Amino acid sequence: MSNFFDLFLDPRTYGERRVERDLQQGIASLASAQASETGALRREAAEMRLEVFQLEKQVMRLTAMVSVLAQALGKAGAYDEAWAREELTTLLQKIDPPPAPAPPPPARAATPYRDAHAAHPAQHAAAPLPKLVECTRCHQQVDAAHTVFSEQGVVCDACQRAIDLGTP
Ligand SMILES: [Zn+2]
Repeated sequence: MSNFFDLFLDPRTYGERRVERDLQQGIASLASAQASETGALRREAAEMRLEVFQLEKQVMRLTAMVSVLAQALGKAGAYDEAWAREELTTLLQKIDPPPAPAPPPPARAATPYRDAHAAHPAQHAAAPLPKLVECTRCHQQVDAAHTVFSEQGVVCDACQRAIDLGTP
């Protein structure tokens, strides 16, 4: 009997296969240019782009899968929300440690609010920079907040508009 895991095991969409084929054709077309140093570098860059594309898809698939499993566990009441939140926060901080605390500000009158901040400097460091991702269509680095997930992968808002309009 099949179940939803099958979707995960054989997940490549038409759009994904098309992008992969385009990237592979790009690499093949650069094969003859390998004699020159520039040609070899361009080929290497093209191969890297394909690898990044495939890795990005893999990460998206894993993210989707984990989110479905988490929802299933939540529906079954299989875990404690507060516990899970704390565990995940701890693991995420190991993967992406918060920035080092800023140097202490000049002395000033103590307030409970500020003292609370001082007790956890790492959690109150400078605001994080926007997370940049590469648009799979125009290959620009864009703020992740200004992207959408489409059939072609993560694309920037401008590209999504172009897709909506049917612009090649
Ligand atoms: Zn774009």
